Amino acid sequence: MTDWLIAPAPAPSLPIEGDNRRFAVRRIYCVGQNYAAHAREMGADASKPDPFFFSKPADAVVVDGRDPSYPPATANLHYEVELVVALGEGGKPVGWGVGVDLTRRDVQSAAKAAGRPWDAAKGFDQSAPCGALSLTPPAADATIRLSVNGEVRQSGRLDDMIWDVEGVLGKASGLWKLAAGDLVFTGTPEGVGPLQIGDAVEAVIEGLPPLRFVVQP
Ligand code: MN
Repeated sequence: MTDWLIAPAPAPSLPIEGDNRRFAVRRIYCVGQNYAAHAREMGADASKPDPFFFSKPADAVVVDGRDPSYPPATANLHYEVELVVALGEGGKPVGWGVGVDLTRRDVQSAAKAAGRPWDAAKGFDQSAPCGALSLTPPAADATIRLSVNGEVRQSGRLDDMIWDVEGVLGKASGLWKLAAGDLVFTGTPEGVGPLQIGDAVEAVIEGLPPLRFVVQP
C-alpha cells in the first residue's frame, strides 16, 4: 500500500455516447495549421509541409456539458473547432469527438514573434472543451462547423485537412509512442476568431455528438 504525500489527481475522462463506460485521457496532442485556408489566414505556407504538433495537459479537458471560464492573461481568446480522435491499444483510433482548441491568440502571436514556446497560449486550464465520444467514425467528408450565438463562424469539411487522420497519426507516431488514452486534436478550418464572456458556442461535426458551451467569467 502506497503512502502518498500527494495522492494522484483524479483522472480526466470523456463520456461516450450511448455507453456507460468512460475514456480516461492520458495525453492530448494537437496539430497546427492542418487546413490550407486556415494556414493561409495565419500567414503560413499552405502547401503540404510536415504537420507540427503541440500539446495540452490531460486535465485541460472540459467535459460533460460544463462551461469553460474566460482565462486570465489574455484579451483575445479564440475558438478553433476540431475533430478529436481518441486512441486505444496500439495508438489505433477507437473514438471520435468534437473539440475546441481554445487559444490565447495574443499570447501565441507574442510567442511566435519571439520564437518562444506556445504552452501558455495553448495549454492553459480548461483550454480543451470536448463533446462526448462516438465509437463510430464520422464520414471522411463530414461537415465541421462552429457557431457563436447562432452565427456560423467556421464551416468546412473533414476532407479539407492537409494531413488526414491516418497521416497525422503516422507523423505523430514518429515523434511519440502513441498509446491508449491519447487524444489527438486534428486542426481547424478557417474562420477562427475571438470569444467574449457570455458567448454561446456550438461546435458540430456531422455524425458526432455536438459540443455546446457558454464562456463563463
Ligand atoms: Mn488548433
